[in-house]
Amino acid sequence: MRINLSKSGLQISRVVQGMMRLNTWNYSENELTDFILKAIYMGVTTFDHADIYGNGTCESIFGNILKKHPEIRKKIQLITKCGIIRKNENNRVKYYDTSKKHILESVENSLKKLHTKYIDLLLIHRPDPFMRPDEIAEAFYELHKKGKVLHFGVSNFTVQQFKTLQEYLNFPLITNQIEISPYNLEHFENENIYFLLQKKINPIAWSPLAGGKIFDSSNEKSKRILNALKKVAKDFGINSIDKIVYAWLLNHPVGIIPISGSGKIERLANAVDAINIKLSREQWFIIYEAALGHKVP
Ligand code: NAP
Repeated sequence: MRINLSKSGLQISRVVQGMMRLNTWNYSENELTDFILKAIYMGVTTFDHADIYGNGTCESIFGNILKKHPEIRKKIQLITKCGIIRKNENNRVKYYDTSKKHILESVENSLKKLHTKYIDLLLIHRPDPFMRPDEIAEAFYELHKKGKVLHFGVSNFTVQQFKTLQEYLNFPLITNQIEISPYNLEHFENENIYFLLQKKINPIAWSPLAGGKIFDSSNEKSKRILNALKKVAKDFGINSIDKIVYAWLLNHPVGIIPISGSGKIERLANAVDAINIKLSREQWFIIYEAALGHKVP
């Protein structure tokens, strides 16, 4: 149920719970505590945050629970991200800031909001066209030396962007968090998946259900994928299509770690159940073909 992420020593759960939509769940403190405890009980111990989720409120809402129940911190792993600056009354444009100063400030804020002394895994949220890899490296070293962040990675990076930053570090980036689902094959097409396979790096997959779009049967692409998912679900006598999507991700040889974004515990349970579903190549390709929209050559 746990995975040694890219053999880094960081043990995370095979399925991660995403916190991007936490501010929309409208849970009371008790309900959120219950959700977190149930997730832990079913083996989902890793929670994915970012400084900007819910305009900064998601880390605070979660941190409030850790403040009240500090014993939970020892049982979980926290991922957070930094580097995106939203357009607001002070900023005329959305932009990226991966300067040393910003990374250090953002992590300080995340630590405060989450009521934790350390972050297990910090990710640079988006590749920054104005990036100074030497500054990112300095920030990472300082955070690691002070015990504030244990491991580092990136998100949404291409192969070249990943290699560029890696060149400046004397420890490995341990993941690239990227969008992967039957609805989004971008990282098969840009060869990120093959690079990560070569380097034995586990990708963490965001929007595994395409943010819910996969269930939208008014959309031609979703309809095609849904039909394929139903075909494979029938082989297993399963009604929950989402289990098959998670199985499609979990069965891939690169060792994809999906982040479930649902706020419903039974939907998280479906993701966990999928760990035990073994897809044949034929079943995997039924879904891949539908995702491509044509037969493989
Ligand atoms: P997702 O699991 O693909 O989508 C979750 C959405 O789908 C929720 O609105 C959920 O609604 C809905 N949904 C789930 N099951 C459904 C069903 N059976 N029928 C209808 N709707 C259903 O993931 P995501 O939330 O887009 O992303 C997951 C996590 O990835 C985020 O929380 C965040 O941590 C991370 N993320 C990272 C990046 C990045 O750039 N690194 C970008 C986006 C997201 P309910 O809550 O009602 O179930």
